[in-house]
Amino acid sequence: MKRIGVLALQGGVAEHADMLKRIPDVEPVLVKTAEELEATDALIIPGGESTAVGTILTHDSRGQALRDLLVSRIRQGFPVWGTCMGAILLARNIRNDHRRHLAVMDIEVHRNAYGSQLDSFTVSEPILGLDGGPFPMVFIRAPVISEVGPGVQVLARHKGQIVACRQDNLLASTFHPELTEDDRFHRYFVSFLQIK
Ligand code: GLN
Repeated sequence: MKRIGVLALQGGVAEHADMLKRIPDVEPVLVKTAEELEATDALIIPGGESTAVGTILTHDSRGQALRDLLVSRIRQGFPVWGTCMGAILLARNIRNDHRRHLAVMDIEVHRNAYGSQLDSFTVSEPILGLDGGPFPMVFIRAPVISEVGPGVQVLARHKGQIVACRQDNLLASTFHPELTEDDRFHRYFVSFLQIK
């Protein structure tokens, strides 16, 4: 059994857990503390509000312990996928915010970059490495990935802007696969566990 954590401090937790339940040999685990993180093989950071979750990880002592363990495990190759808010937490730099959160992935994000007119929308785009045609992408007050470092592989774009990318054990997407019926991207992330 692979135990895949879902960071459960705030945001769209249940939808990721439900999607993981569809994958054979995978057990979703809700993670709020360092002890719970210890018992997982990988972690999904869901969508939500980066300022709220960032505050817990910085100003709350249990949150700090969780953040410290997460950063040290990531440096040892622990697989983490950030969706939307999760991508913001992983990013080395946030173009329009002075805060930095985990700052472990060599990407820069631009929060709420699609503006108020397009707060939420759905498109379909191909994702590198996913067979079976374009993938449905739901964007909700999404960031864009405005820059990536040389070690980062771009997996998908929408209108030229990067919406999914990977750096070794780290995966970032600005859209929400957990809000669709398509579990290919979750399966792709779970496949990271075999190649350690
Ligand atoms: N707008 C949120 C933020 O900047 C992210 C939105 C999401 O995760 N769906 O933190």
